Amino acid sequence: MAFKGQRCRHELSCIIIFDLLLISVTGFVLDGTRAEDLTSKQTCEDVAIIGAGISGSYAAWRLRDHNLSISVYEYSNRVGGRFRTIRFPNSPDINVELGAMREALLNGTDFPANGTFNDYALLHTRTKDGLELAAYFTMGISKEMSDLIRDVVGFRFMFGDVSSANAVPLSNPNRIPTGPRVVQTVKEGMEAVPHTLMDRFLQTSHSHKLHLNRELTKVIRTGATYTLRFKETVTTNGITTYAKNFRMLEVCAKKVVLTVPRLALSKVTFSGLSISHDLSDSIENAVKDVPAFKIFLAYDTPWWRTTNVTHAETDLPNRQVYDFGTSAQTSTSVLAAAYGDMDIVKFWREVQSRGPFMNCLNGNDTCPSEAAVKHVTNFLAEIFQIPLESIPTPVDGAISIWDKFPFGGGWHVWMPGYNWDDVRRDVLQPSPTDHVYFATGSYAPGETDSWSNNALETVERVLKLLSWASSLNALEI
Ligand SMILES: Cc1cc2nc3c(=O)[nH]c(=O)nc-3n(C[C@H](O)[C@H](O)[C@H](O)COP(=O)(O)OP(=O)(O)OC[C@H]3O[C@@H](n4cnc5c(N)ncnc54)[C@H](O)[C@@H]3O)c2cc1C
Repeated sequence: MAFKGQRCRHELSCIIIFDLLLISVTGFVLDGTRAEDLTSKQTCEDVAIIGAGISGSYAAWRLRDHNLSISVYEYSNRVGGRFRTIRFPNSPDINVELGAMREALLNGTDFPANGTFNDYALLHTRTKDGLELAAYFTMGISKEMSDLIRDVVGFRFMFGDVSSANAVPLSNPNRIPTGPRVVQTVKEGMEAVPHTLMDRFLQTSHSHKLHLNRELTKVIRTGATYTLRFKETVTTNGITTYAKNFRMLEVCAKKVVLTVPRLALSKVTFSGLSISHDLSDSIENAVKDVPAFKIFLAYDTPWWRTTNVTHAETDLPNRQVYDFGTSAQTSTSVLAAAYGDMDIVKFWREVQSRGPFMNCLNGNDTCPSEAAVKHVTNFLAEIFQIPLESIPTPVDGAISIWDKFPFGGGWHVWMPGYNWDDVRRDVLQPSPTDHVYFATGSYAPGETDSWSNNALETVERVLKLLSWASSLNALEI
C-alpha cells in the first residue's frame, strides 16, 4: 500500500484513505435506480440519513458494517452536494471543481492527489511600496489597505457584521505561511470521494439504500420511532424542483441523522420533539450563509501563460483566478477565471440571470450567460494587463453560484453574540430525549464548513453520541 508504515495525521484521514484505496471509483448509479418506493410503512429502518453530500455519504460509509438497515435520502438527483466535479468534453482529464477544490481532509497522506494550487498567494502580494500584505497583519493597517483586504476574498470575514472571533484564527501570525504552499486536490475530482463512500456503503448490504429526489420536510415523533415526511422532487438539466403533482412520502426510522446545511435545516419542521426555543434562534441566526461563485472557461490555447501569472487575487469582481492546466489528450486549457464570495456574488447572479447563454458543449445548468463571459473576459484583460482582443473566444464554460436552497451559501460564518461550543453542542442533539441528530458542519466552531473536514468531524461527534463510533473499525495504519 502506498502509505504503508506512514502514520496518518488524523484518525479521520486514516479511516477514509484506507478504504478509498481498497476500491476504485466505480460507475456508481446516480439516477435513482436503486431507490425504492417509500410509501410502505411496514418496516421501520434503523437509521435514516438526510443529505448525500460528503457528510451524509461519510456517515453512511462509517455505519456500513453495523448490520443496520440504513437509508440515505437526497433532495437532488446526485450524490456530492457542494462537492461537484464536471469535465468539459474537450478536456476530459481536467477536473472542473464547481464546489470544494482543495482538500484538507486527506492532508498528510498518500491519497492519489495532484498538487496544483499555489495557495495563499494573496499574502505574498506586494503593495506599491514593496510591503507584503502579510506584513500588514502584524503591524496594523491603513484605511486603504483595509479596504483592499476587505474586498479580497478570504479576509472580508474580519470586517463585516460577523463575529470578530472569526478573525482570531485568520489573523494568527503563525497561520501565515512563509512560502508558497502546494494544496492537495483529488485526482479523480473531489466528487469522487462522496461517490466512492456511497458506492461502498451500498455494496456492503442489501438493506442499505439511497433514495434520490426526496426532500425531507417534517420529522414527527411517533412513540419510540419517527415518521419522516418527504416531498418528491425532479431534477432536469441539473435543476431540482418539485415534481408536478408531487407525492408526499412517509417512512419510519428509529434514528435520524440530518447532514443538511443551515438553510435546509431551518425549513424542516419537527413535531413531538422537545426542542427548546433557543435552539431555533441558534439555527436561524447563530451563523449566516456565505454565498460563493466560480466561473471556468476552456480555451484552445493557454493565452494567460504568456504573462507568467498563473494565480491572481484581485478586488475586481473576478476575485481569484487559477490556471487549471492543459489537457494531455486534447491540449485544451482551462482557467478558473473567477472565484469569490460575499457581496460580489449578487453581481454574478444578476449577470447570469440574463440570457442568451454561451455555446456550452455539455449544455446543462452550469452554462454561463454570454454576459457573464463578456464581463469576466473584460476583467481578465485588466488582471493580466493585456489587450482584450488578445484573449480568444472560450470553447466551453461553466458557472456555479452557491446562494440558493438547499445550500444557502458555499459555507457559513459565525455571527456575534453566540457561543460556538454551546451552539454546536445544542445543535448536535437538539432534543436530549430523541434520536434525532443534526450532523451539519454549518455550526462547527471556528471556520464552520468552509473546510469539509470540519463537517466530517461533526459527523464523528454525532457517531459518538450514537455510541457507535467506538465499535467502528477505525483503521490506524
Ligand atoms: C465554492 C466552494 C468552494 C469550497 N472549497 C472548499 C475546499 O477547497 N476544501 C474544502 O474542504 N471545502 C470547501 N468547501 C466547503 C465544502 O464544500 C463543504 O464543507 C462540504 O461540501 C459540506 O458537505 P456537507 O455534506 O456537509 O453538505 P452539502 O454538500 O451541502 O450536502 C448536503 C446535501 O443535503 C441535501 N439536502 C438538503 N436539504 C435536504 C432535505 N431537506 N432533504 C434531503 N436532502 C437534502 C443537499 O441536496 C445536499 O446534497 C467549498 C464550498 C464551496 C461551495
